Amino acid sequence: EAADVKALHLDVMDGRFVPNLTYGMPICEGLRRKTDLVLDVHLMIENPERFVPQFCEAGADAITIHVEATDQVEATLRDIRDRGVAAGLALNPDTPVEEIEPYLEHCDLVLAMSVNAGFGGQKFNPVALEKLASLRKRCPEMFLQVDGGVNSSTIAECVQAGADLLVVGSAIFRKEDYQSALNDLYSLL
Ligand code: ZN
Repeated sequence: EAADVKALHLDVMDGRFVPNLTYGMPICEGLRRKTDLVLDVHLMIENPERFVPQFCEAGADAITIHVEATDQVEATLRDIRDRGVAAGLALNPDTPVEEIEPYLEHCDLVLAMSVNAGFGGQKFNPVALEKLASLRKRCPEMFLQVDGGVNSSTIAECVQAGADLLVVGSAIFRKEDYQSALNDLYSLL
C-alpha cells in the first residue's frame, strides 16, 4: 500500500493444475482484514468451482479461473458474478484465444498468461501480446490482464497491446525498495 500498488493479485496453486503449491482462503481472509486494496484472486487450481464460495466469503473482489482447469467454465463464471464478485477467465500461453471466445460475455476480465502458470520468475512469452491485441480489438470494454514476466523491459509493450491490469511479481519482490521499483514501472506506462 505504501508503495502505491493498485491491487493485490493472489496466486493460488493446488499442486495439481500446476506443479507448485501456494496458499488458499486463509491468506485471502487475512489480507482482507488488513487492507482495502482490491483482492484479485487467480485460481490456478483444478475444478475451481469447488472453491468459489469460500474465496468469495474470504473477501475476494475478483476471481479468475483457468479455461483449462474445468469443463464448467460458464457455470463457474456465472456463480462468481452472482456472488457480486468480478469474474475472470485465464488462458495459458499454449491455449488459443478461440477457447475462451464462447465465454467472453460472462467475463469481467480476461487474463492472458505470459508464462506457463505455476512458478514465479519465468521469462515473458510474447504470444500474450498477440492475444491481448486481438482481445482488445474484439472487446474494447473488457479488463485485460497480463501475468508472468512483466517487468521494466516488457511492461510498455503489454500496455500497447491493450493490457490494463498488469500483474508484477519478481520485478517488485526481488527489489529491496518496492516504492522505487513501482516508480520505475509507472514511469514506463
Ligand atoms: Zn497470477
